[in-house]
Amino acid sequence: MHGQSGGEFEGPSAGRGKWSEPGVPHKGWTWVGIEDLEDNKVTCEMCEAREVRYAHYMCHPDYPETLLCGCICAGHMEGNLARAEERDRRMINAARRRANWLTRSGWHSSGKGNPTIRTDGYQVTVFRDGSKWGGVVAHRATNDRRFLPRSYPTVDEARLAAFDLLLMLKEK
Ligand SMILES: [Zn+2]
Repeated sequence: MHGQSGGEFEGPSAGRGKWSEPGVPHKGWTWVGIEDLEDNKVTCEMCEAREVRYAHYMCHPDYPETLLCGCICAGHMEGNLARAEERDRRMINAARRRANWLTRSGWHSSGKGNPTIRTDGYQVTVFRDGSKWGGVVAHRATNDRRFLPRSYPTVDEARLAAFDLLLMLKEK
């Protein structure tokens, strides 16, 4: 399970990297964002040991830079390991769903011939936008519609962008 492995060289007790560097705060950090780096993994900027796919962005009033950290270090820095692990878990689930998104059953052609799927209380549709592809995610109960902010060269890129938009709307 991602997030549990590598604990032996992460966190304050192992004393790696910035954990033993004078002047770097160990507590009181705030989580400000998370990103799936997929194959572009980086080394955790706190322990400088753990390879990180899901980067937790952490900041502190007494430290000049935002640090990009692994789950365990981030949890110790913010004083809540369970919360950091829950964020990691959500990202893992989202990555799995995103990997299956294009081949999911349920995709069909709308009345206008646009690829569309109904999921999680939303209707997700992509459509031709000139020579490119745009998309829209509509909340079925309220009919609130959000369009992709730009268009994409291929239908699959538009479908993946629509998935990311769907996730963002669900988080709200
Ligand atoms: Zn770390």
